[in-house]
Order: sequence, then C-alpha cells, then structure tokens
Amino acid sequence: MLKIDSLYAGYGATEVLHGISLEVPRGKVVSLIGSNGAGKTTTMRAVSGMIKPKKGAVLLNGVDVTGLDSHRIARRGLAHSPEGRRVFPTLSVIDNLLLGAFPRFTGNREKGDVHGDLERAMELFPRLKERRTQLAGTLSGGEQQMLAMARASMLNPDLILLDEPSMGLAPIIVDEVFRIIARLKERGVTMLLVEQFAGAALAVSDYGYVMENGRISAHGPAEHLLHDPAVKAAYLGGH
Ligand code: ATP
Repeated sequence: MLKIDSLYAGYGATEVLHGISLEVPRGKVVSLIGSNGAGKTTTMRAVSGMIKPKKGAVLLNGVDVTGLDSHRIARRGLAHSPEGRRVFPTLSVIDNLLLGAFPRFTGNREKGDVHGDLERAMELFPRLKERRTQLAGTLSGGEQQMLAMARASMLNPDLILLDEPSMGLAPIIVDEVFRIIARLKERGVTMLLVEQFAGAALAVSDYGYVMENGRISAHGPAEHLLHDPAVKAAYLGGH
C-alpha cells in the first residue's frame, strides 16, 4: 500500500530525515513513535506532498508519487489528517465533511457513494452528527479533532496519515479517539499513526517503527515493541 524508500527531506538547508524506509501494508495500522523533534511529522508531510523530499521514493499502491503536489497525492487515495486540527472554521460540520470528499471528483478514482459515506462518518462520530449544522470554528478542541479525522475518512482513502489525533485533548476524549481508530481499523482502513501516547498507539497497531534523529532506529510487530525493554524505558513511560 505505502512504501517509503530511503527518504531524505527537510526544511531549506536543514535536513531532518536522513534516509527513512518503512512500509504500511493494506488493511494494517502502523505506528511511528519517537521523541519530540525526531521527524515524525516531517515524514508524514513528505509522504503527503506538503514538503518535497530531496532523495528517496514514496510509492502508493506501487505508483511512485514522490514530489507530486499534495492534491495529486490526495486524488490517488491518501488522506492526511495533520497535527493541529485544520478545519474550516466558518463552514458547518457537514460542509467540512463534504469538502473532504472533494478530491474524489477531480481525479480518476471511483467517486463512490458520498452520501452513504457521510452517513457512515456520522455513525462513527455521533458527536458530529448532533452538531452537523454548527460552524466548525465553534466546536470544542476534541470535536474539531474528530472532524479532522472524519473529514479525512470522507476521501474514502486507501490510506490515512493520522498525526497526533489526541493532541491537547482531555483523557476521556483521548479514549474516544483511540476507540474510533480501532473501529476504522475494523472497517479495513489502512493507517499510519503518529501519537504521543505511544503505548496506546502500539496497542491499536499491527506494526511499529521507532524514529530517532531522522532515522529509523528499531521496528517490529507492535506486540514486540510494547514488550521491548529499551522501547518501554524510552517511550512508554516505563509502563
Ligand atoms: P513532535 O513529536 O514534537 O511533533 P516530530 O517527531 O513530529 O516531533 P518534526 O515535527 O518532524 O518532529 O520535526 C523534526 C525537526 O524539524 C525539528 O527539529 C523541527 O524543529 C524541524 N521542523 C519542523 N517543521 C519545520 C518547519 N516548518 N521549518 C523548519 N524546521 C521545521
């Protein structure tokens, strides 16, 4: 589904990713964990076309999408739910969700059943259903985060990149976000997940990669990483 091969990327003259390789197989959830500044967000940006990689390749369903503009990559079925809940504040919840489906109408992909997908998104996020006519800018932080995830799901994507979906949320809402990730997984959605709560992220994942200073320092089945003493000590708060 997604294959990243020896990816180098950064900002201006600063190189942040020094040759990242990883794979996300179809239907699987893969976590990318690591300390602040390790380059997790940068990896997602380089995959979705928000920044241009300097070297290396990003393959989506076997197609080389390295360096394409982000809207072209979205059309090929990749949704990026970025850090910091970027919703359209002056549009309603429903309109934000419909905009998520927009790239389906500009590419060669199957348009599918937008109305049905909207119903399914509402089912998955009942809070959004209750607030469907409310302006997105007036939602709580947690609700905006859910809207960003729901909007990503409206692309009917082959793959969702979820960057820190729990950022800044109250613990009870964090639990809800992880429940939603588990339900998306049950529906067969493929995800690459970056989370500060590494333990909870690995618990919903099939596989994990550990990133340190722009390189992958370890990887393995999520279950193994959860029990790896070095990973536990560094990223799981010793629990
Ligand atoms: P966190 O868990 O803190 O979000 P991260 O692993 O996602 O960390 P990145 O956000 O990818 O890390 O940042 C990696 C490095 O790139 C950091 O040193 C950061 O300061 C730098 N960086 C990130 N965004 C930019 C930017 N837009 N311009 C310049 N440097 C940036």
